[in-house]
Amino acid sequence: MKEIILVKYGEMALKGLNKKTFEDMLTKNIKRRIKPLGRFVCTSAQSTLYIDPQDDDIDLSEVVDRVGKIFGIAALCRACVCEKDFEDICEMSYEYLDDVLSCAKTFKVNAKRSDKAFPMKSPEICMEMGGKLLDRFPHLTVDVKNPEVTVTVEIRDTNAYVHAENIKGAGGLPVGSSGKAMLLLSGGIDSPVAGWMMAKRGVHIAAIHYVSPPYTSERAQLKVEQLCEKLTDWCGGIAFYCVPYTELQEAIKDHCPEEFFTIIMRRLMMEIAQRIAAKDNCLALITGESVGQVASQTMAAIACTDAVCRIPVFRPCIGMDKTEIIEISRKIDTFDISTLPYEDCCTVFTPRHPKVRPRLEDIEKAQNSFDFEPLIQKAVENTEMKTFDIAK
Ligand code: ATP
Ligand code: MG
Repeated sequence: MKEIILVKYGEMALKGLNKKTFEDMLTKNIKRRIKPLGRFVCTSAQSTLYIDPQDDDIDLSEVVDRVGKIFGIAALCRACVCEKDFEDICEMSYEYLDDVLSCAKTFKVNAKRSDKAFPMKSPEICMEMGGKLLDRFPHLTVDVKNPEVTVTVEIRDTNAYVHAENIKGAGGLPVGSSGKAMLLLSGGIDSPVAGWMMAKRGVHIAAIHYVSPPYTSERAQLKVEQLCEKLTDWCGGIAFYCVPYTELQEAIKDHCPEEFFTIIMRRLMMEIAQRIAAKDNCLALITGESVGQVASQTMAAIACTDAVCRIPVFRPCIGMDKTEIIEISRKIDTFDISTLPYEDCCTVFTPRHPKVRPRLEDIEKAQNSFDFEPLIQKAVENTEMKTFDIAK
């Protein structure tokens, strides 16, 4: 019996003229993601992509697992390939659906006939096949409203397909279809979630992280690299920039009033991020900020940070509660890494009484009392880049 995976496109089915570009991008993303698992032929027709495994030893549940994390997909399922012949469809279904139907109590049949040359119409397929399945599995009853199992029969161009599961896809748009943006990735809970949310909207992510040795440990950086690696499951390849930030932080400490440390530090982070973003064709920055979460995330503080930004800053967590952010971080499996204990550079020289309502002119005056430019340039020059790619 031959099994394939059917992939139903998500929102991009609505994109009219761009549809082909979106489809091509999604197909490319899928092929890259499953290539390490064996040989496949991927073809698309009628808003569905067929993943046809060419080797016998391919682990299809691993394929489903990987494809389930690719953005741009509404639903996917494993399906059994049949001849376009009603008897063959029924025979194959008995065997293919034996496990699920043996355990279920209620079912219904759902037929989709895109090949109008097939001699039976959809309602007829449902009726006839329902009857045959009842004969074969007499413990079952039909429930059209709320069945435990929906057996779907699809009559398409070259074959018919039967399946009983429908797995929800990751949704969103294919990564890369919305351009690239630079994610300020800390070791915390919020920023990996922010990156994931933007990748979901088709944004290809690059990541930037600031380290302050010896105040921050090497393990803190390794933790962020682990987060990057985890994100590649969803986001594809990620260029990771690591910025040496110690000298700038020490300069802030030596030359600026303590109550402004954090905001000035964040303004300099943004400055560096947008310079590196420009070199890597990123059109926006992304952070994990959420209004009111900490002193540097009040609206007044965010306004002071934004004042140095020349490109848009996306903050997809901005209106979310911590509990909601945590829920996503568990779902995308970054939570356990994020909650490892190592220090982040943000906690170095934290002011005892940070200003929650800073005024931009005070911040600018404090920052202008020292020429940070040479240190900014030096940090940009000494930034190291690594790439993370999808697991082999
Ligand atoms: P997170 O959970 O993402 O660390 P947070 O609630 O701890 O966020 P802050 O520490 O104020 O908040 O950081 C706000 C945002 O600034 C982070 O979400 C992240 O985008 C960015 N950021 C903070 N520290 C770093 C860092 N060391 N490297 C890169 N980006 C950082
Ligand atoms: Mg943090």
